[in-house]
Amino acid sequence: MEVHNVSLKISAVKKEQYPTEGYPEIALVGRSNVGKSSLVNTLINRRSYARTSSQPGKTQTLNFYEVENQLYFVDVPGYGYARVSKKERQKWGKMIEEYLTQREKIHGVVVLIDGRHTPMQLDLQMINFLHYYELPLLIVATKVDKVPRSKWNKIEKEIRQKIEFKKQDHLVLFSAVAKTGVNEIWKWIEKRADF
Ligand code: GDP
Repeated sequence: MEVHNVSLKISAVKKEQYPTEGYPEIALVGRSNVGKSSLVNTLINRRSYARTSSQPGKTQTLNFYEVENQLYFVDVPGYGYARVSKKERQKWGKMIEEYLTQREKIHGVVVLIDGRHTPMQLDLQMINFLHYYELPLLIVATKVDKVPRSKWNKIEKEIRQKIEFKKQDHLVLFSAVAKTGVNEIWKWIEKRADF
């Protein structure tokens, strides 16, 4: 999709604030610093629309980005940020659980994992959780420009093994720097959103 119009519709902390237009939603989840803002910015062709993390983990809201009046990207705040208090973490956990488990408008979830390392425990927990709720997943391995091309097959294989890949899951290697994987990601989104 060629994107010209994007606006931050709302930063929500509870379900009463979710948008009501009924557009399909694509949620994006991942650990802080994994490259989520960079992915959103790449998909919408902006240099720095979604905030890149100068303050990792600070955005504790669900950010609904309206794209071309037909779709929402929902930026779910990054998990695994050690410096927030236990109370804050619980509040955050409740907020994203409520969204991911109750929101019927979710057409798919993009799960970002760092392509330079094997998936971490927190990534695996998130993926298991999303599998349990039978949400269609696109696993995006980020920052692959940092990995030699000769190792890409190995990364893919390792990820598939580690996360108990389901047949309805998809995996894309992505780089915001080299723009690797952008078309494949858009293709998946468009299919999920029934365009
Ligand atoms: P977020 O916290 O998940 O939103 O992560 P950001 O998008 O802010 O990225 C975190 C850091 O990783 C920043 O320093 C980015 O410049 C860097 N980064 C993000 N994507 C890429 C990528 O594809 N390649 C490389 N080399 N660095 C990246």
